[in-house]
Amino acid sequence: MNGYVFDIRHFSVHDGPGIRTAVFLKGCSLRCRWCHNPESHDMLPHETIVEKRVGDKLIMMPEITGKSVTPAEVLDEVLKSRVFFEESGGGATFTGGEPLMQPSFVLECIRLMKGNNIHTAIDTSGFAGSEDFASVVKETDMILFDLKHTDADLHQEFTGGPLEPILRNLRSEVMSDKPVIIRIPLVPGFNMAVKVYAKMAEIISGLNNLIRIDLLPYHHYAAHKYTRLGIEFKMEGVREPDSREVSTAADFFRNKGFELSIGG
Ligand code: SF4
Repeated sequence: MNGYVFDIRHFSVHDGPGIRTAVFLKGCSLRCRWCHNPESHDMLPHETIVEKRVGDKLIMMPEITGKSVTPAEVLDEVLKSRVFFEESGGGATFTGGEPLMQPSFVLECIRLMKGNNIHTAIDTSGFAGSEDFASVVKETDMILFDLKHTDADLHQEFTGGPLEPILRNLRSEVMSDKPVIIRIPLVPGFNMAVKVYAKMAEIISGLNNLIRIDLLPYHHYAAHKYTRLGIEFKMEGVREPDSREVSTAADFFRNKGFELSIGG
């Protein structure tokens, strides 16, 4: 069995506990306007044109984004950081893209990791069929679950997908005792309002084993990727949240008694 990944990054400290190796899978059905990894959207590897500096000249060169790999190849790469997992309580995180777009491949990777005593996490939008969601979550140690909005219309408008299946998965039986980190992107003009935080807090309160909330303030570092890929960058002109706005969100959730981290 093969799957498609576009990167495997060692020494990540923002994708779950400890030092982790992040496996970035290709494929996502959503189209969040602020997405930092638009190169993940298409499932299959594709060519993009990138600028490379050769001496003092910038030249345009084709580059392939994504490749087909086996679970055993993913394990071999992840194992290179094993010593750091042991010392830091880290492990492997499957992210993307949406890892649940390739459920059988991810499940096989997770089983291999478990067989080698490596802690596993998935970083998911929650936008997946119930059966695929349950089958992967059941065997994964920790879930990083995005909560982007609580209003169905705004969710559809800004992410290109419905909210209902995401909430259904978040509230599903398989999540009942699963350690979970809720990740909330803070996006100006979309979800940065106390009334939205209040509804999010209600939903999050229903989780039995919440580790913490990660607030992820929007940044525009990924803008150049859209140019490179020839995709419209819909966040043009949208500013990053300032420190006061981030503090407002953080204080709100802390005052409700949640553990919180800013930036993951
Ligand atoms: S769910 Fe994640 S990977 Fe998919 S479009 Fe949204 S931000 Fe990007």
